[in-house]
Amino acid sequence: MSNPIYKDPAAPTETRIKDLISRMTLDEKLGQMTQIERSVATSSVVKELCIGSILSCGGSGPFENATSADWADMVDLFQKSALESRLGIPVLYGIDGVHGNNNVFGATIFPHNVGLGATRDHDLVRTIGEVTAIEVRASGIHYDFAPCVAVCKDPRWGRCYESFSEDTDLVRKMTSIVKGLQGDPPEEYPKNYPFVAGRTNVVACAKHFVGDGGTENGVNEGNTVSSYEDLERIHMAPYFDCISQGVCTVMASYSSWNGTKLHESHYLLTQVLKEKLGFKGFVISDSEALDRLSHPYGSNYRKCVLSAINSGVDMVMVPLRYELYLEDLTHLVETGEIPMSRIDDAVERILRVKFVAGLFEHPLSDKSLIDFVGCKLHRDIAREAVRKSLVLLKNGKDPKKPFLPLDKCAKRILLAGAHADDLGYQCGGWTATWEGKSGRITKGTTILDAIKETVGDKTEVIYDQNPSSETLANQDFSFAIVVIGETPYVETMGDNSELTIPLNGNELISSIASRIPTLVVLISGRPLVLEPDVFEKIDAFVAAWLPGSEGGGITDVIFGDYEFEGRLPVTWFKRVKQLPMSAGEKNYDPLFPIGFGLKMKLVHNMS
Ligand code: BGC
Repeated sequence: MSNPIYKDPAAPTETRIKDLISRMTLDEKLGQMTQIERSVATSSVVKELCIGSILSCGGSGPFENATSADWADMVDLFQKSALESRLGIPVLYGIDGVHGNNNVFGATIFPHNVGLGATRDHDLVRTIGEVTAIEVRASGIHYDFAPCVAVCKDPRWGRCYESFSEDTDLVRKMTSIVKGLQGDPPEEYPKNYPFVAGRTNVVACAKHFVGDGGTENGVNEGNTVSSYEDLERIHMAPYFDCISQGVCTVMASYSSWNGTKLHESHYLLTQVLKEKLGFKGFVISDSEALDRLSHPYGSNYRKCVLSAINSGVDMVMVPLRYELYLEDLTHLVETGEIPMSRIDDAVERILRVKFVAGLFEHPLSDKSLIDFVGCKLHRDIAREAVRKSLVLLKNGKDPKKPFLPLDKCAKRILLAGAHADDLGYQCGGWTATWEGKSGRITKGTTILDAIKETVGDKTEVIYDQNPSSETLANQDFSFAIVVIGETPYVETMGDNSELTIPLNGNELISSIASRIPTLVVLISGRPLVLEPDVFEKIDAFVAAWLPGSEGGGITDVIFGDYEFEGRLPVTWFKRVKQLPMSAGEKNYDPLFPIGFGLKMKLVHNMS
């Protein structure tokens, strides 16, 4: 028998899709519309059910601290099972690499998106996409659930740090990361058609469609209330850019728009996203999102499946209950409640992405990429991003007498605060584990490590997380650096209506700053409340966001080797009561407006 057309790389993609679909059984088609968790993905399940995609929930790897090579071995095993299926359709393995390949031990961890927004450097962000893609591919993974292009309108939202900015135009600019992740489609490439350049690129996923950052009171998975025009102008616009760059997939949001869950919005998923915006890749559900639709659990799960698929969801992230999902989906197609045309449309979209991603030609991992994971070049790029993300909000009690840069040859430096020597805190959520954690969670440089590398031999660095008044009184410190901030969180657990500095941050700053000249470095995914009397006491203040593995980027700037370049990607409010608050609104009265950022040498730099 001659080689089927779908296996011929020289045949046009649409011809390959038609050929393959014509050979598929209903079960195989429905299998392709299923994404399951790796913990339930036995080789027979993958093969017999013709599973379309596998994910690692919360970044769960083959084992704790698994390296890229371990990951690649794991993914390749699943792939081999998929290739043994009747038609040999490769499986697409997906992961949340949202600031570098953050699930893999030793990978380069970049600042979270809010910090990248502060850099305002879209070329750098594109390069970060390229590096992330290489490190993800090195782990055998083809699919990255990134970028999050949410426009965060309220910092009380637990996912504020996953958003580049509250400003739509800035988020649009930062979608350059899609070109980095997937590669840049050539001029003559068909408009809006999914694109993946090669074996060092990944399938990207613009998420969460749409309005996730606009919910009332910043509640995660909440409700966004707006006219269609505002939804399009504020929250949907970044998707125009992602789609025109050939983004392969879009993830539906858990949230609702005017009371309707996005996963059940035929209007937004089908009429707007696919028809009006011309998106030709596939729509993936969020994890277990179908369970969270308005219909209660149990027998009505079928109604959830019906509603989501008919609304335009093409692949469902199940991740564990795949048997129930497939049983319901099969039933719904057999009874005609879900038309076959809808199934074929979904499968076409999924196969289109697999063909353009080159999965049929290169299904297995490329071990030669492993050496690039966490390499010096990649870490230097991350360090540059950290430098450029830092926003200077205060420099000297008297602006004519700047406090920064710090003196590398100072006699004795006090370093305080739990965040000064905690890589996990620097990285925040979505690192090593889903929710992130404290400690040496991966390779990298803490701020303490970086200070030691920066200062002269004669400088004594005393690190005391929480110095007593005796320590403060009895030692002759040249100055203090207090590093405080938020502890890691993700999604709903990060929703916060207080936004105060955790771990008694204000008390710690106060006790030190009343005795010693003090620089405060805040590690956080969003602006926090700065008590006016405390802010007054300190000499300098730097917002460092969630910088990731390269703490050296901070010392590069505070010790004066580089200038501050970051500008606020979000408004710094005075009081929580003011939220939500956006530039351009009548009562805009922030502590610092979006765009604010001082220079060490210049006095002001506002846009
Ligand atoms: C999040 C998504 C993520 C997915 C898969 C969900 O909880 O909302 O952003 O891609 O999990 O891990």
